[in-house]
This record gives sequence, structure tokens and C-alpha cells, in this order.
Amino acid sequence: MKTVQIEKLSHFINGEKVEGKSGRYGDVNNPSLGVKIAEVPLASAEEVGEVVELAKKGFEVWSKISVARRMEVLHKFRALLVENTDKLARLTGKENGKTIDDAKGEISRAIESVDFALGAPHLLKGDHSVNVGGEINSYSMHKPLGVVTCIAPFNFPIMVPVAMSTMAVAVGNAMILKPSEKVPLSALLISELWTEAGLPAGVWNVVNGDKEAVDALLEHKDVKAVSFVGSTPVAEAIYEKGTKHHKRVQAFGGGKNSMIIMPDADIETTVNSFIGAAFGGTSQRCMAISTAIPVGEKTADAFVAALKEKIKELKVGTFDDESADFGALISAESKVNVLGAIEKAIEEGAVVAADGRNPEVAHEDGFYLGATLLDHVTTDMKIYKEEVFGPARIVVRVNTLEEAIDLINEHEFGNGVTIFTDSGSAARTFTENIEVGMVGVNVPIPIPVGYHNFGGWKRSTFGEGQMFGPDTVRFFTKRKTVSERWFDTSYNESKTDFSFPSS
Ligand code: NAD
Repeated sequence: MKTVQIEKLSHFINGEKVEGKSGRYGDVNNPSLGVKIAEVPLASAEEVGEVVELAKKGFEVWSKISVARRMEVLHKFRALLVENTDKLARLTGKENGKTIDDAKGEISRAIESVDFALGAPHLLKGDHSVNVGGEINSYSMHKPLGVVTCIAPFNFPIMVPVAMSTMAVAVGNAMILKPSEKVPLSALLISELWTEAGLPAGVWNVVNGDKEAVDALLEHKDVKAVSFVGSTPVAEAIYEKGTKHHKRVQAFGGGKNSMIIMPDADIETTVNSFIGAAFGGTSQRCMAISTAIPVGEKTADAFVAALKEKIKELKVGTFDDESADFGALISAESKVNVLGAIEKAIEEGAVVAADGRNPEVAHEDGFYLGATLLDHVTTDMKIYKEEVFGPARIVVRVNTLEEAIDLINEHEFGNGVTIFTDSGSAARTFTENIEVGMVGVNVPIPIPVGYHNFGGWKRSTFGEGQMFGPDTVRFFTKRKTVSERWFDTSYNESKTDFSFPSS
């Protein structure tokens, strides 16, 4: 791999950049060119402990500031995200490989989650009941938890960190974000925007690192909640360790998302929808469609034939190539993994309908793969069972809708799913019976908007509650219920009562 000017990165702690002290660094690449561009410090457990202490001080300040003033900061943060969209999109493209258009898409979803967090004053309102018994009034409130952490993946360097954390900050917590060590640049720029927006020091911190930093966060007694997004094996491990250390944990993992194509679906619309949802973002999206399940041989033949033609038109390129449909994979290792999955599938009997293993590219060192489509995949094949985070998509042929639903329900993942059909009754059977968290009907990527909850079922999510939406407020706050009576001094019949309080 070629090496160019290497930037030495830092953490962002207590309102400023802080150099790493552990002496350990990770490489940050420009996947489009296949070159190393920066070194990111990997925090030690001791450094994590120091950040938690500073975040606790930040929490003391921030949690006491009125919710109206907190919203002023959020309004400014939102405006800065809009103002800096081009800069953020370029940076994300540079370190992640995704096209600038795709990066702008994730920024707009990030902004949507800030919009929802701006509703915190309303969402924080508690309940109030008058005269629940003996002139007692009862009311409840949502209190912030304290220092909380979000651990993010590489595939959405802006959307996931912002969507995970903004409501947590809005309701009064102090945040320690642990971004993916593969894409720390975007998180560092977001930190600058928070500071410019007026967030007090210590409320927003970015600790760069790997397993060592994550373990230290999970074990620290003063980290109260952990929100994780990443692969399923890591999500499960985080859930187990975090709960063992008595933390509130939500851990969102991987997926293997299907699109059922019914015989009555319009083939052109379906193929256009599939191609964007399956290959967009170089198929490195937890909600990407991995598996096409056409119902009936005729549907399958028509779908695969049309898809093969469309795939020929796809172009891979650098993040700033405006004509590219998608960019490079995140790393050389990821490319090897995807190639391995394709080869294993062929060995197990899958039929190559489109072969993207050697795409035409201008930068040979970039981590590129073109679009690959494997037909006649069966449920016993490895590629059917496992998440492939790259542009290798599969077709599993079935005879009935019920067969398709059964297959999806038996799969270990349950993140996203969709059906393309003209039939209301097929759609209803599907939405009623499918065991998946996010469901589409003629919508290729059914990712909920910021004010609805987000989350998969089965081994795509560990822990209670979902991300985004009202569940975020519940996850990042604790309820306190007060029963209150004020004595009328003219009323003087006080007596001791040993029975259980009743109304
Ligand atoms: P990953 O699991 O490798 O890493 C995620 C985070 O965990 C990173 O910050 C990383 O530093 C940390 N990490 C990695 N290994 C660890 C370990 N052993 N112990 C502690 N921390 C560890 O995931 P990734 O490759 O960055 O992201 C891709 C995965 O994320 C895919 O599986 C994708 O489906 C999933 N994802 C899920 C969602 C969702 O909402 N369900 C959204 C985006 C991505």
C-alpha cells in the first residue's frame, strides 16, 4: 500500500483535542486509493478512567442547565451540521470510501435525529396525578443517567454517532463516544461542531480506541449506559459484559435482509429498488438487502435476467467520482472476506449471475469490488447464513409466499425485510407474520425515520428498547416518582398509621 502524508490524530476530551498517551496507534485509510492517511491513538484503560472523571464534571454542569438552554445548543449544533454538510461529506467519503452523495444522505438522516432530539422538552414531561389519596399528589420525572457511552461502527461515520448520542445529550447526560477506529475523522469534526454550538466542556468526549478502551468503558462503575452498534458477535459480547457490570445496555448487531418478490410485482420497479438497496454504500449497510427471494420460477427468471442487465451499468469509483454508483470497501481485509464468501458459495453450488470480482477501476490499490450476484443459493450454504458486508448478493428461489416467510423467520437475523407486491392481502400476510424488526412493503430500505423507533429482532439486537424515537428517551433517562402532600396547618389530626398505604 502506498503511504502519503500521515496525520497524527488525537482524542477529543473536555472540550479540546488531547493527544494519546498509550503509545498505541491504529491506521486510518483512504479506501478509494488504498493509502494510509492517519494514525489514531488507541486509548488505554487509564486514559478512559480520566475521561470518565471529566465527563462526570461535565454532567454536573449540563444536567442542571435548563432544558430550554440545552435546546439552544442543539439548535446551533443542527445549524452547524447543515452548514458543514459538504465538509463532513468529503471527510466521511475520504475515510470510509462511500460516495459524497451517499455521505450527504447519511448526514441528512443525522440531522433528522437532531430534529427529534429538539423535542426533548416535550418528551421529558412527566405525569401528574392530583389527590391520589389523602390529599397526596403524585408526579413522575425523567432524570438523566450521568455519564453514558456510545460505541459506533465504521459504516455510518456521522449518522450512527449523531443518531445514537444526540437525545442522550439533550436529556442531560454527558457522552463518551467511542467511534470506529477506522473512521475517527468524522467524529472529531462533529466534536468541534458541538463545541462551536456552545456545549460545555466535558459533556461531549471522543475516546478513540479498540477493545481495550471499550472494555474499560464497560467495566467502569460510573458509566451508566452503553449503546452499541456493530457486528453481532461484538454486540453480544458487549451486552454480556455491560450487563454483568450492571449497566443499561442496548446492542444493535448485523443483519441478512431479504426482499420477497411476488409474481405480481412490477419487475422494472423491483429491480431498480433492489439494486440501490443491495449495492448502495458498497453493501456496507446493516439494512442493505442481501437476499432476493422471488416467488415462482417465472418471477425468478424475469427478475434475475433484468437484474443482470442493470448490474452491467453499475460503476465503482473513488468517493469523489460523481459518476460512481458506489465506492471502495473499508479495508483490504474486508475485500478478502467478501471474495472468500463468493468463492465458498461457488464451491457449494451457487451459480454466478454477475461477477464483480475484478472491476475496472482507476486506482488499483483501492479496496474495490464490483457487484456480484449469485443465483440458486440454498439455505444450507454459508453465504445464505452469514452477513456479507460487501457487494455479493444472493437469490434464493421459492415457490410460495409462506415458504419465503418461513425461511426469513428461521434465519438467525431479524433486522430488515421487504416485500414487493401489488397484492394487499399478500402484504398483510407478510407484515403480520414476519419476525423482523423493520419491515417494508414496496419500500426497499425500511429504515424508520428519526421519530420512530429503530431496531431488529432476534440476533440483530441484544437488550431491551430500540434506537431513535421515544425509546431513546426511555433508554437514556430513569424515572422518579414523587408522592407529595402539604399539610394544612389548620388541620391537626395527625396520627401514626402502620397499615400499608392505600388510597
Ligand atoms: P464491529 O463490531 O467490528 O465494530 C463496532 C465497534 O466495536 C467499533 O467501535 C469497534 O472498535 C468496536 N469493537 C470491535 N471489536 C471489538 C471487541 N472485540 N470488543 C470491544 N469492542 C470492539 O463492526 P463494524 O465492522 O465497525 O461495523 C459493521 C457491522 O455493524 C455490521 O455487522 C453491520 O451490520 C453492523 N451495523 C449494525 C447496525 C444496526 O443498527 N443494527 C447499524 C450499522 C452497522
